[in-house]
Amino acid sequence: MQCPRCLNTDREYFYKGSRGWYCRKCISFGRVMLEEENEPVSLSPVSEGSEEYTLQYPLTKAQEKIAVRCAELIDSSDVLLHCVCGAGKTELVVMSIAKMLKEGKKVCFAIPRRQVVLELRERLAQYFPKAKVIAVCGGHTDVTDGDLIICTTHGV
Ligand SMILES: [Zn+2]
Repeated sequence: MQCPRCLNTDREYFYKGSRGWYCRKCISFGRVMLEEENEPVSLSPVSEGSEEYTLQYPLTKAQEKIAVRCAELIDSSDVLLHCVCGAGKTELVVMSIAKMLKEGKKVCFAIPRRQVVLELRERLAQYFPKAKVIAVCGGHTDVTDGDLIICTTHGV
């Protein structure tokens, strides 16, 4: 048994309701029935040159050091940047984003607040002029495939 959405195979997360089996591991994204045939999702390839970026200001030496280290670590582990507001967290990960795009991987930013999604989309679209940067949140859900996807952490 495997969840078609989160690919969970741990039986402890499966529950049988009145309509059949469903996965509780990813239940926060809505109930997904295991018997349902889901249409395979085909995503467009990452746009040519999408990894090219320009920041509005150069990073400081300390920021540059952190950005390089993030880009090194991102291949082999999760990375947590814990900084105060205005410290430039987004700018610190631009190098990592570019690295992933260059490897043909899509990048997703998941943020709890809709307004921040829209603001960040604008900023990242300026940084990455050749990338297809899209916002997926309330009122912006028609297009869900892009090179760089900025979305809310919950459904719409
Ligand atoms: Zn699941």
